[in-house]
Amino acid sequence: MNMKELVKNLKDPITEEKNTYLKYSKWMKVVLRRAQVVGERELPISALIIDQNGRCIGRGSNKREINKDPLGHAELIALRQAAWIKNDWRFNDCVMIVNLEPCQMCAGAIIQSRMGKVIFSANDFKRGGLGGTIDLSKHKSAHHKMEVISGVLEQESSMLIKNWFKKLRNEK
Ligand SMILES: [Zn+2]
Repeated sequence: MNMKELVKNLKDPITEEKNTYLKYSKWMKVVLRRAQVVGERELPISALIIDQNGRCIGRGSNKREINKDPLGHAELIALRQAAWIKNDWRFNDCVMIVNLEPCQMCAGAIIQSRMGKVIFSANDFKRGGLGGTIDLSKHKSAHHKMEVISGVLEQESSMLIKNWFKKLRNEK
């Protein structure tokens, strides 16, 4: 489901969907603020995991460069932290919020963790694993049904990533 389209098409502005969108936007703003400070060399991506009580149990930002770690993606770091706090690897009652569509590796991990819902802002049409290139959540290998919501603060997130690439090109 693309939230941006949904909200645009709403006739009555005070609906449950609208309220839900506002709640997601609030979380996404936190994610974007965290993404802005991941460090100059890292792609500005950050992720949060919220439990059924609305409590943040996992946070992660890209650490691929600083840790020289091919698995150092924001989503995986957040998953590890949340699993430690939850003392469980299952996340059926949790929501992941991330400012770019998870890559195929992360999408696979998120499905394996049985995440209840994933919310992201911008699609990644080069590497995205939840619709941008392939949708692993709808693949026949995915035995877990996961809700995927895209388009939350999409413009802000796209700008952040675009500006980061622009800066990187100017430095070269
Ligand atoms: Zn990833």
